[in-house]
Amino acid sequence: MRPARALIDLQALRHNYQLAREVTGAKALAVLKADAYGHGAVRCAQALEAQANGFAVACIEEALELRAAGIRAPILLLEGFFEADELPLIVEHDLWCVVQSLWQLDAIEQAKLGKPIQVWLKLDTGMHRVGLHPSDFKSAYQRLQASGKASKIVLMSHFARADELNCPRSEEQIAVFEAARVDLSAEVSLRNSPAILGWPSAPSDWVRPGLMLYGASPFEEPQIHAAHLQPVMTLESKVIGVRELPAGEPVGYGAKFITPKPMRIGVVAMGYADGYPRHAPTGTPVLVAGQRSQLLGRVSMDMLCIDLTDVPQAGLGSTVELWGKNILASEVAQHAETIPYEIFCNLKRAPRLYSGS
Ligand SMILES: *Cc1c(COP(=O)(O)O)cnc(C)c1O
Repeated sequence: MRPARALIDLQALRHNYQLAREVTGAKALAVLKADAYGHGAVRCAQALEAQANGFAVACIEEALELRAAGIRAPILLLEGFFEADELPLIVEHDLWCVVQSLWQLDAIEQAKLGKPIQVWLKLDTGMHRVGLHPSDFKSAYQRLQASGKASKIVLMSHFARADELNCPRSEEQIAVFEAARVDLSAEVSLRNSPAILGWPSAPSDWVRPGLMLYGASPFEEPQIHAAHLQPVMTLESKVIGVRELPAGEPVGYGAKFITPKPMRIGVVAMGYADGYPRHAPTGTPVLVAGQRSQLLGRVSMDMLCIDLTDVPQAGLGSTVELWGKNILASEVAQHAETIPYEIFCNLKRAPRLYSGS
């Protein structure tokens, strides 16, 4: 059997969820969109269901997958519905629904719903992606209330730059939010992972942790709460070939690496078809036989090469951690000029093995 695999530590997932609640004192919707950022939404929901206040996903397809697996906890659709004909399913499956634009509000007013739904009314406080304009917010709230179609209304917004701890933009967004909700009495929800960890001033009845659940820090620099996160996913494989090369020999496609000295090269069963980033360059860290080493040359579809020159204990069959508890996904992401969010979401082919459920 090919040795590439993603080990998923559900105990660490529960620890990180608890951290989001402890840091904020708020209720928390565990964000499981994009198949739980590559970790497997159903298994993660099952692992969290006993302690979680609810879940959040990007679309009804993702919500229905959880319902079909028997998940009964509240599930919020973070972008609401894309077409009005999703509304009967939202009612039937008891989903909570974001309203982020006026056409969605119109559709709810016009729909014949069997029973009222819980609506999370989203304000654009400055990210300028989705959300109602501040000048429409209060009237939208009043229309929803008057429609009789909302069983409860929660007010929400989303930060654009909460991962930049010295940037004033998040405080500006909080101020826009506070002004828009001044005479509305409803629960609120603003904070994603970086805001949960780094912006205690944001009001929060509900928080929405995503990335932090999976144990990666959203910050580039060390941060006091982020230091307590536990990585959930370990992507690992084994050395399937070893080569001794003299100086001056190329390694891999395009001869992007040429041995500067005699070297010992390990070939690992892991490639971009597993989700390892093809753009990770020579020097990206790996752990082999318990010791840090580095990637050499181009990543190919099914294999990549690493440096064993100074790891004499490593050989055929040695375990290689591509990211996990020793090599942080954020480190790999920085080398590959991406973010841990994308690193996780891209996981494919390598089977997931779960522990700690
Ligand atoms: C994805 C998402 C989150 C979670 O963000 P993280 O940075 O991963 O914590 C929260 N809220 C909304 C609206 C989202 O789309």
